[in-house]
Amino acid sequence: MCGNRDIVIIGGGPVGMVLSLLLAKQGIGSTVLEARRLGAANQDARALALSYGTRRILEKLDVWQALVPHATAINKIHVSQKGSIGRSLLQAEDYRQEALGYVLSYGALCKVLSAQVSGSPLIHLIDEAQAESITRDAACAAVRYRRHDALHELQSALLVLADGGRSLEEVAGLKRDTKEYGHDALITKVSAELPHDNIAYERFTPNGPMALLPNGERDFSLVWTGEKSRIAPLLELSDAEFLAQFHAEFGDRVGRFLSVEKRMTFPLKLSQLQSSDTPHLVVVGNAAQTMHPVAGQGFNVGLRDAEMLAWHIGNTPGALGGSEMLAAYRASRKTDTRHGLLFTDFLVNIFSNDILGVSALRSAGIGMFDLAKPVKRFLVRKMSFGK
Ligand SMILES: Cc1cc2nc3c(=O)[nH]c(=O)nc-3n(C[C@H](O)[C@H](O)[C@H](O)COP(=O)(O)OP(=O)(O)OC[C@H]3O[C@@H](n4cnc5c(N)ncnc54)[C@H](O)[C@@H]3O)c2cc1C
Repeated sequence: MCGNRDIVIIGGGPVGMVLSLLLAKQGIGSTVLEARRLGAANQDARALALSYGTRRILEKLDVWQALVPHATAINKIHVSQKGSIGRSLLQAEDYRQEALGYVLSYGALCKVLSAQVSGSPLIHLIDEAQAESITRDAACAAVRYRRHDALHELQSALLVLADGGRSLEEVAGLKRDTKEYGHDALITKVSAELPHDNIAYERFTPNGPMALLPNGERDFSLVWTGEKSRIAPLLELSDAEFLAQFHAEFGDRVGRFLSVEKRMTFPLKLSQLQSSDTPHLVVVGNAAQTMHPVAGQGFNVGLRDAEMLAWHIGNTPGALGGSEMLAAYRASRKTDTRHGLLFTDFLVNIFSNDILGVSALRSAGIGMFDLAKPVKRFLVRKMSFGK
């Protein structure tokens, strides 16, 4: 028997915090180890695309109301390809949804979640706690973490790794399949001449896809992806040069671009944990799967991990953290994760090359997709709610 009744979660990012809140809602206690100081993530301006299904999870936790002032609704998604007239439009009203999704900053989400976590008597958040190693025996898993130069250990019948895949790469028993795209994503915020009207733009160019998401009253968050050799020089341009190049790629739909904030890039890869039997240890969120941001799926798939894991913890009759419980959890997540990875990988492959003929096919494909109502409905359901 494992002495500690609490579930231990490594990583107090959005997925780790949502899991702890979902557990608390069922009367289950947890300890969250977070490497950063409490509040350190609150200023992170990176924009997350939240699906309608993610909104429902956040509503269940009573945090959605506090997020509403920070969230921008996406009412339409406009899909186009540079150099062709084919375009497709998805509209929330066609699917009886209030919105197709929302854009929210990582910082605003973390701030609201950490306030809720701090107020819960069932959650013990330890900040500035850097997990360094994980060990397991027949009854328990144990994590060693460093806090203010002192080493500590916590044991649990269920250890959840939600560290975003940033550390603890070498945990025994965990193997990852990784595909490096050789692409980077440039992220920033821009303002434009015309209002966004709550439309998100997905634009495919021969160099890679770009997404322009409404964020705030007038601003857009930009995710511009492509080969490293094409994206890196964009950091060196003056603001005016950058906006002119972006305008040339994106076109005239929102008029001229007027200003741009700080630009940063990060490497893109597709990575998935191989399924393996690791009793007392489970991996969720970005630590379990990392996707290309082309369709804004990664974060939402991670939150659905948290939702399903909380359900299995609360409802599986078998031993907490036992092989049976974890196998049931992994089986429940397999299809959704696989589809998310396949779908984003497909989009990157089909839309990031300029082979003769492929471009025309893509253009025809976008036009046909616009007419195929059942396919669009299926896609909207998938992107909103997963499996
Ligand atoms: C630079 C960057 C930009 C991104 N931009 C976008 C975007 O524009 N749109 C989008 O939809 N998605 C984006 N993503 C992906 C998105 O951030 C993730 O899908 C989402 O954050 C996943 O949440 P998570 O909780 O699983 O992991 P994370 O948000 O990474 O959280 C992990 C947490 O674990 C903590 N941690 C790490 N190691 C340890 C340790 N050893 N001990 C204790 N704590 C630890 C970290 O401090 C962090 O708080 C981006 C990712 C990166 C890296």
